[in-house]
Amino acid sequence: MKVSTSKTPFNTLFLDRDGVINVRNFDGYITRPSEFIFCKHAMEGIQLLASLFDRIIVVTNQQCIAKNIISESNLNDIHRYMTDSLAAKGIKIDAIYVAENLKDAPNDRRKPSPAMGLEAKEQFSTIDFTNSWMVGDTDSDILFGMNLGMHTAAVKSNERLTQTPTLLVTDLVELYNRI
Ligand SMILES: [Mg+2]
Repeated sequence: MKVSTSKTPFNTLFLDRDGVINVRNFDGYITRPSEFIFCKHAMEGIQLLASLFDRIIVVTNQQCIAKNIISESNLNDIHRYMTDSLAAKGIKIDAIYVAENLKDAPNDRRKPSPAMGLEAKEQFSTIDFTNSWMVGDTDSDILFGMNLGMHTAAVKSNERLTQTPTLLVTDLVELYNRI
């Protein structure tokens, strides 16, 4: 694959999961690896973007855990499938942060709270939010990125956005081509 060398290097790529990496289930949750379908151009896009970033971190809201719809072990199986599939293409995901709590629970870690970003900064002290990107498909993703001072990109979906991201793109390959 031809990778451009003329682009600016960035610090950290934060990716939402559902609707960005995998096709979102609008009627419910992804409950097993067989339901995890990569979005069109997601793998190719992440592979391209990986050349521009020091690290890639997934930040995902999964209140299906608190609702007891799936177990942590189910979720780990899904994430192992995701990271193994990406690793087969030479793509490394450095960390996955999951907000398992219910919406509006005490100590809510769900996006748009910056909690998972701050946890990532604890783990990776060289994270520089001002030179990082958050990519998502909902207002809460964009607000999460804005709350941490990041550039933001929204992948177009059926969900209407009220926030204005830095970039609005069809998929992750388009994001690579435009940043
Ligand atoms: Mg999403």
